[in-house]
Amino acid sequence: MNLSTRAQNIEPSATLKASTKAKQLQAQGKDILSLTVGEPDFATPETIQNAAIEVIKNGKASYYTATAGIPELRQAIVEYLEKFYHVTYTPSQTIVTDGAKYALYLVFQAILDEGDEVIIPTPYWVSYSEQIKLAQGRSVFVETTSAQNFQVMVEQLEAARTPRTKAILLNSPSNPTGMIYSKLQLKEIGEWAVAHDILIIADDIYGRLVYGEETFTPIVSLSEKIKEQTIIINGVSKTYAMTGWRIGFAVGNQTIINAMIDIASQATSNPTAVSQYAAVEALVGDQTKVEEMRQAFEIRRNTMFEALQEIPGFDVLLPAGAFYFFPNVQQTLELCGYTDVDDFVDDLLYEANVAVVTGKAFGAAQHIRLSYAADQQTLDEAVARIKKFVEKKQ
Ligand code: PLP
Repeated sequence: MNLSTRAQNIEPSATLKASTKAKQLQAQGKDILSLTVGEPDFATPETIQNAAIEVIKNGKASYYTATAGIPELRQAIVEYLEKFYHVTYTPSQTIVTDGAKYALYLVFQAILDEGDEVIIPTPYWVSYSEQIKLAQGRSVFVETTSAQNFQVMVEQLEAARTPRTKAILLNSPSNPTGMIYSKLQLKEIGEWAVAHDILIIADDIYGRLVYGEETFTPIVSLSEKIKEQTIIINGVSKTYAMTGWRIGFAVGNQTIINAMIDIASQATSNPTAVSQYAAVEALVGDQTKVEEMRQAFEIRRNTMFEALQEIPGFDVLLPAGAFYFFPNVQQTLELCGYTDVDDFVDDLLYEANVAVVTGKAFGAAQHIRLSYAADQQTLDEAVARIKKFVEKKQ
């Protein structure tokens, strides 16, 4: 049977593909170090695990929940946003989803008609454009470079705007670059979006993972108008080491949230009940572990930054947040005789036994992405292997 055009056109997630390849080689007994996946290596904190065990045992997690999520979790999301964003929402303005990824999927399904455009500053997270394609929308990529610290300017957005522009995607801190927008930059972008009635989709998933003197500014905190123009996307995966539990959420405009709930009601019914109860504990419970994990990431970031700079040709910025390095490796490619970053990434895997992700997956063909959500020993050894490989090849 012929597959749908939609299915034929979809690109599988490049990061998941790279990590699957690394896992396959590891299963064959190869000593592969994988820096592919954006997943904390920590186990979910015990208090959260215990909250889940309790609701499994007392039977509360046995049943379907409301599509939008259990009332306790919708309330917890509101409290969380009050505490960390200093903004006020009602529980009805929230939807709990199967990971932040599905929250994004639902937003696009809710707002896009065929040919509607979403502006995406590049480099960007792989799934945005494919999800937009699935909703028959069109991604309009606006390129940012390391010279501008990967921060898009309003003039660039204005040049990309058309009558079909429906939304702009903002991801700060960014996957893959680790860049964080300043308050001033966000205000400018927010006011531009308000002026042209463009929905801001604020993917804040890395908002709690910021380092050094850096701070995360939620764009919704900048004015009431910007808040009304924005859908927040967030979740527990990265902050609480809960990737496997699959709980994300979206918050904002009631009409859009209601449409997302209706779509989800026909697609998934509800996110897993036990995970929702665990997420309540995550959001309103003790936050000590979050800070411990954040500090561990910061130490890794600092040591890996030093080490990466020793690799010939690597042009690397210190990421302000998230847990990725996104060096420009163009010079390294030239030094080692590569014309395509994918060949370099392949050789790193098969010859140096280090798995990384090609920058092409993020719309930046001169870059590679290395996740530092791995233990220190793995990171040290992986970077040493890359360095040795490049020194030998050049
Ligand atoms: N947004 C960004 C930028 C991400 O990097 C990820 C995960 O890698 C997600 C959203 C989705 O996270 P989850 O679906 O695990 O909540």
